[in-house]
Amino acid sequence: ARDAAESAPLTPGALADGTAIALLANLGKPADAADAVARGAEGVGLFRTEFLFLSSAQAPTVAEQRESYRELLSAFGGKKVVVRMLDAGADKPLAFLNDAHEENPALGLRGLRSLRASEDILREQLTALAEADAETSADLWVMAPMVATVEETKYFTALAREYGIKTAGVMVEIPAAALLADRVLAHADFASIGTNDLTQYTMAADRMLGSVASFQDPWHPAVLRLVGEVGAAGARLGKPVGICGEAAADPLLAAVLVGLGATSLSMASAALADVRLALSERTASEAKHLAEVALAADDAASARNAVAEAVTALP
Ligand code: PEP
Ligand code: MG
Repeated sequence: ARDAAESAPLTPGALADGTAIALLANLGKPADAADAVARGAEGVGLFRTEFLFLSSAQAPTVAEQRESYRELLSAFGGKKVVVRMLDAGADKPLAFLNDAHEENPALGLRGLRSLRASEDILREQLTALAEADAETSADLWVMAPMVATVEETKYFTALAREYGIKTAGVMVEIPAAALLADRVLAHADFASIGTNDLTQYTMAADRMLGSVASFQDPWHPAVLRLVGEVGAAGARLGKPVGICGEAAADPLLAAVLVGLGATSLSMASAALADVRLALSERTASEAKHLAEVALAADDAASARNAVAEAVTALP
């Protein structure tokens, strides 16, 4: 199947009935853009900006950031590029932003919380993005990581608008944001579900800790139910709901996520071909059916097995 997927044409992501599901790339630096384009990415669903900050003892200048963002946006003329604001803390600690003495950094001042505490860094990032946007033709979307509340959503989207950025959304990686997705989405232009952290927080299992790695499985029906909450809220409000965690790269799970209401999937570029092929074989109603099968399971392994079984029964 892998060979078939890789030699298939680089068409836009679509289900067997023609429903468009944009297939986007997760990128960690602008130099990765060419590979994503070559593999048929329709844009970028998650641009992690940490690379700009991790290598230095202090924040990069606005000019340095603008150059990187311009390089990225230039590679995707006319296409959607979702840039995530600096996500520092826990698995991505930054000396100048995070307190190394927190006992539970995954539950600490991280993501948007730490940006708010050092708002100049957030403002500089938005300034550099707005400037790069003005010089390029990509469709820039920005989003905040680790959003838990409606209030944080309002804060971030209002701030992004101050800089003239047209499309501002939030990552849903914390169960609280998923459970109140309708209220969160009332104030955001879109949501992007980070299944890596959403799984960590739903299962209360540190994603960095090998001894609890078996809990870090996005097939768990509790995680999928939260994804479904966000998908349903997006559908009610007419707002896009993307997935940008590793789950989107699993061809079998991809159809389930679409069945739960995901309107786009973002993944490592190398996974695009297999997911494109898998989605092209399922209709929207089949994807919904597979989602129901997964939700009905008791645990991750049963959900995966039940869906694999259900797929073989489809035409
Ligand atoms: C996620 O949490 O699923 C995600 C996409 O963000 P990161 O892996 O960078 O935390
Ligand atoms: Mg995350």
